[in-house]
Amino acid sequence: QLIFLNGQFVSKKDAVVSVYDHGFLYGDGVFEGIRVYEGNVFRLQEHVDRLYDSAKSIMLSIPYSKQELSDLVVETLRVNDLLNAYIRVVVSRGVGNLGLDPASCSRPQVIVIAEELALFPKELYESGIEIVTVATRRNRSDVLSPKVKSLNYLNNILVRIEAGLSGVNEALMLNDQGYVAEGSADNVFIVKNGEILTPPGYVGALEGITRNAIMEIARNLGFSMREEVFTRHDVYVADEVFLTGTAAEVIAVVKVDGRVVGDGKPGAVTNQLLKEFRKTVVEDGVK
Ligand code: PLP
Repeated sequence: QLIFLNGQFVSKKDAVVSVYDHGFLYGDGVFEGIRVYEGNVFRLQEHVDRLYDSAKSIMLSIPYSKQELSDLVVETLRVNDLLNAYIRVVVSRGVGNLGLDPASCSRPQVIVIAEELALFPKELYESGIEIVTVATRRNRSDVLSPKVKSLNYLNNILVRIEAGLSGVNEALMLNDQGYVAEGSADNVFIVKNGEILTPPGYVGALEGITRNAIMEIARNLGFSMREEVFTRHDVYVADEVFLTGTAAEVIAVVKVDGRVVGDGKPGAVTNQLLKEFRKTVVEDGVK
């Protein structure tokens, strides 16, 4: 496996960064997770745009143009000869001194890793998953925007820890007002009376690229698809609940905090959206 690290491809063993990197010391940096289906990079442009927006928001200047970075992603796939893959792009503030001030970091580090895909077991897509809501709150939109996909993923990690303590794989975070925000690394949707709802970005959700794709697909299929604030109660009484994300794709949720969703099986709308999504991913990609 070859990893792109600051201008060259190196082996996994040699792909190491300094302990003085501010990404390591402070979580100072941004990242993206991108999916490749049959050699097609899914919505590469959107991922690159989001990466540059995240970087701009934290005043981190990526030392490549968007086109150069897109080419690097494709190049990393090619040198690793991968058809179906998960790609991680990381840009950290770089090596500096122990102080917080990023001025001591002379050059951001750019890393691109492409790996064989570790898929969720197929059974989970057929059975749906159980989730809980947790005490960890999404950070407020008026502080560090949840739209910034930063290297600081402590909230999300705590969500996973809390999920694990409850014996489930994923959980929902609420925001500081108690509205449902998102999962640890996925967005949430509910279906009620044929209408599909997902929380708006300002509630504290990352505007997921899978989320955007699903919103488009739902509208093209003629569903009423709205961004709307909702609470745990709405999730409990929804006809269907599902999560979306680069890794998860579209996965049904069949139990939330012990409440069975609908009839306890992945719903018809969720299944239809997953089917359409799987068609779109190959057609929509960058070769
Ligand atoms: N929410 C968070 C916090 C995430 O990290 C991710 C993963 O990227 C998502 C949602 C889903 O976004 P996407 O569909 O772009 O992968």
